[in-house]
Amino acid sequence: MIWTKTICESCGPVTVNADRFRLTLDDEGAGFYRFECPICGHDQTRVASPPVVTVLLSAGGRLTNEHEHGLITDDEIDEFTRGFDGDIWAELGESR
Ligand SMILES: [Zn+2]
Repeated sequence: MIWTKTICESCGPVTVNADRFRLTLDDEGAGFYRFECPICGHDQTRVASPPVVTVLLSAGGRLTNEHEHGLITDDEIDEFTRGFDGDIWAELGESR
């Protein structure tokens, strides 16, 4: 279980279990993630850059398929994640 810091519009910084994130990707691998704030219970949506998407998926976030291209395969995710080489945890504000 990986706890991830993020921001609720109402509550400010909150900590959310990574498997509560729902990701939606565009064709470039960026997209959005959604989560329910553990404090106020409101659904939140945040922009996710490709590195953040990678972190959230590796931490247990779940991919939702809201466009017509079909499910992304594990191979596609592997290929995608090979493109990154930085401290993506820092970008996400993660402390673990
Ligand atoms: Zn909140």
